[in-house]
Amino acid sequence: MPCPQAKRCTLHAQLGARSALTVWQTLFCESGFDRCIRYRLTAIGAVVPADLLPDGRTHMPQAARPPLEVPLHKVG
Ligand code: SF4
Repeated sequence: MPCPQAKRCTLHAQLGARSALTVWQTLFCESGFDRCIRYRLTAIGAVVPADLLPDGRTHMPQAARPPLEVPLHKVG
């Protein structure tokens, strides 16, 4: 099942036509959205940083930081 947030998610605009987008779409957007940190944050009403990738990393190299953790029980 595709991600219910797909039409509102800004990841695609952030990455444009980069080949990495295809990887994220395949791994998360098309069938694994429940594992996506962007989806989880949206589901609990939190702000999603524009540069946040589905696995919790950012795509800004200088902003390297550990992945965010969102407890599954917070996802509706
Ligand atoms: S990046 Fe996450 S929130 Fe955005 S469309 Fe893909 S699975 Fe959904």
